[in-house]
Amino acid sequence: MLLSRVLPSNTTLLPASSRTRAAPLRCHHVPVGRAITVPVRCRSAMTIQAGDAPPVLDVEPQPLKLLEPQPLKLLDRGTKLKIAVIGFGNFGQFLARTFAAQGHEVLAYSRTDYSDTARSLGVAFFDNQHDLCEQHPDVLLLSTSILSAEAVLRSLPIQRLRRSTLFVDVLSVKEFPRNLFLQLLPPDFDILCTHPMFGPESGKHGWAGLPFVYDKVRIGDSDDRVERCHAFLEIFEREGCRMVEMSCAEHDETAAEIQFLTHTIGRVLAKLDLKSTPINTKGYETLLNLVQNTCSDSYELYNGLFIYNKNSTELIEKLDGALDTMKKELFDRLHGIFREQLFDSSGRSSIDAGN
Ligand code: NAP
Repeated sequence: MLLSRVLPSNTTLLPASSRTRAAPLRCHHVPVGRAITVPVRCRSAMTIQAGDAPPVLDVEPQPLKLLEPQPLKLLDRGTKLKIAVIGFGNFGQFLARTFAAQGHEVLAYSRTDYSDTARSLGVAFFDNQHDLCEQHPDVLLLSTSILSAEAVLRSLPIQRLRRSTLFVDVLSVKEFPRNLFLQLLPPDFDILCTHPMFGPESGKHGWAGLPFVYDKVRIGDSDDRVERCHAFLEIFEREGCRMVEMSCAEHDETAAEIQFLTHTIGRVLAKLDLKSTPINTKGYETLLNLVQNTCSDSYELYNGLFIYNKNSTELIEKLDGALDTMKKELFDRLHGIFREQLFDSSGRSSIDAGN
């Protein structure tokens, strides 16, 4: 039967993509904006794109496949990585716990001796960077403060690493580490810039649904390099993170508002020394939680968000301006009310009238 005779006029035929697989045709309605695949006997399969009216197909059962937008699907081969965490403070430990729980081999180095904590997490702690690099990790993850990142990276004996090591960072700003990696690392190293947009406080009950931003800045073409990068990203995907691929520049533009603004408001509120009361409203509870969430991160982190994201300066000026505008609106209104009370409708001052 000719398809054109059974399909409505607003239905378009497109060549099927190579990823489309056919399934039995059962439903007669094609939702708007979706596509189905129908094999045409003597030719290759065609994809039918629905228009805005649901067509009724009067055809024998045929294979059908609804094409949904595909989420990021990473290779699921359970590749185990050897991951070296440089900077084993608050956030480094938080990440390492999950890496180890997923069965990856985790090594760590920090200027402070965290060997006891490391042992409890199943992580091998090194107090010497040379010894750590000689372990030839697949991934070297930089998790130091933003302010110390450059000094730490410069001090790493990268000549002891395998030439193809994948460098990853989790700094809360992105253009800065991207440029730093591109400037300081030899071209043989792969570079993946990431920002898990959560921390030990907001991610303490799991990472499901929390955003994970990444930018594959420089990943070699070979299968093993591509696979290694995917295996690393898969750690976060397995935990249910919302994977968002975004350029470092775009991240910084967006994060200034999302992150720096949140931290600034939290820290300003902290200066008011707010206390919980017996009559807390939901809104007030939200403010108290914001103070708790933002101030549990180090001041160094907050400072890094300001210094190393060029968009933060503009944002703090806007915030200042917005507070001034708000104050002006309130005081103008207050003055208006006072003026009305001072002068009666005849325009005489109430003081004169009293005399
Ligand atoms: P942080 O105060 O930003 O960084 C602490 C880490 O930096 C510790 O490992 C510390 O090592 C190291 N460090 C600081 N100054 C150093 C120096 N002069 N030389 C060598 N190492 C130095 O707090 P954090 O929360 O652990 O954050 C680590 C990184 O993760 C930051 O880049 C941050 O932006 C990013 N991040 C944090 C969160 C979060 O929620 N906390 C979320 C996403 C991304 P020692 O402990 O050995 O002193």
